[in-house]
Amino acid sequence: MTANREPTFRESVDLMFNRAVALMDLSPGLEEKIRVCNATYTVRFGVRLRGQIQTFTGYRSVHSEHMEPVKGGIRYAMAVNQDEVEALAALMTYKCALVEVPFGGSKGGLRIDPREWEEHELEQITRRFAYELIKRDLIHPAQNVPAPDMGTGEREMAWIADQYKRMATTDINYRACVTGKPVNGGGIQGRTEATGRGVQYALQEFFRHPGDIAAAGLSGTLEGKRVVVQGLGNVGYHAAKFLSEEDGCKIIAIVERDGALISDEGLEVEAVRGWIARHGGVSGYPEGTYVSDGAKVLEADCDILIPAALEGVIHLGNAARIRAPLIIEAANGPVTAGADEILRQKGTVIIPDMYANAGGVTVSYFEWVKNLSHIRFGRIGRRQEEARHQLIVNELERLSADRGLGWTLSPGFKEKYLRGAGELELVRSGLDDTMRTAYQSMREIWHGREDVTDLRTAAYMVAISRVAASYRAMGL
Ligand code: GLU
Repeated sequence: MTANREPTFRESVDLMFNRAVALMDLSPGLEEKIRVCNATYTVRFGVRLRGQIQTFTGYRSVHSEHMEPVKGGIRYAMAVNQDEVEALAALMTYKCALVEVPFGGSKGGLRIDPREWEEHELEQITRRFAYELIKRDLIHPAQNVPAPDMGTGEREMAWIADQYKRMATTDINYRACVTGKPVNGGGIQGRTEATGRGVQYALQEFFRHPGDIAAAGLSGTLEGKRVVVQGLGNVGYHAAKFLSEEDGCKIIAIVERDGALISDEGLEVEAVRGWIARHGGVSGYPEGTYVSDGAKVLEADCDILIPAALEGVIHLGNAARIRAPLIIEAANGPVTAGADEILRQKGTVIIPDMYANAGGVTVSYFEWVKNLSHIRFGRIGRRQEEARHQLIVNELERLSADRGLGWTLSPGFKEKYLRGAGELELVRSGLDDTMRTAYQSMREIWHGREDVTDLRTAAYMVAISRVAASYRAMGL
């Protein structure tokens, strides 16, 4: 690859794909079949708002249908375009394959600045966009299941689910047509935090392997690690919150749209988030130092850099100056293919997007399964589990009393042990297991093959081999 022109997002994904397939033994036809995006539907629709007809452009791209339904979020942003939606759909294919979520890859986007519209207007626009997609089965529990992405959240997903229900009145599984819904509207506990939680679990897993920590030139545990987070949206906020509150990381900088906050002592994520909600940005926040050139702060000296906002923020123009030895891609595509090459040469370890931010789609999968089974996880077994644990505790206490042993259980043990797992605990357990297992599969290739020197290539290889196996099983 020539490093003098910045590839587009889709070209970046293709270049990374090509790097991986060059090390694999795939038939050339199959390689092409996996790489290409199967179909992209573009729709232009009008909605009468503010006294005139406003025209919007939306996309739903299906990258691979080797498994159905296909899955991927719907993004609301002015920068949405076909190239971006196709790149994101391709990443969904690889992401699902890597974390063994049985879906193909898709993505949607609407070219709109959601902040410019009132809630009731957004509802009208969303319902109309959903209508256009539903009537072509581009939203359907068995075929194509959207979820939130940048600029959308559970509110939009609830509108989409309701719109689908109105149009498919006899579909008993209507709730499974979209994930990321509010918990009281068929959603699942832990979905909102899921992508950020997945970033935390990914880092915890990384830090279980001394060799991997050393490869990044780091040592020790997550405790005290200096972290720079770019973007305090849903993903960045939850990742930073959990890492600082539960793992002892220090958030030494937060980069936002209007600039960055820096503090060697560490910033309080909750307080910064509250400030942004009230003031629309980080500027004026009473603690730390405010820097208006946020992009420069990505180059700050730190242990871990978490880009959690837009794609392409680490590019040919700044890659050489990035000092973080470890980057975890909480966003999709934050590092361009050109920057990736520069960083690899510098020895920076990158935990790639398709793994790092797969927590969202993993919990979406759990939500979809919950919707199809029409029952909340844990509802059947929880009290039974508690009763069996109670039996053991009773028996221990009886033994101790009968034999005069004077045993006492450690403080807090009984409370913890006797509590059966509810939906949130089960979701977190399933997510943690998914993140650990997927890391192992990447790691085996990263360390097991001399010709693979980075986690991204390893991730692509795992994902592509699984997609290829599905196609082969179908006789392709
Ligand atoms: N938009 C999220 C992603 O990029 C979630 C997709 C989903 O849950 O289907 O992974």
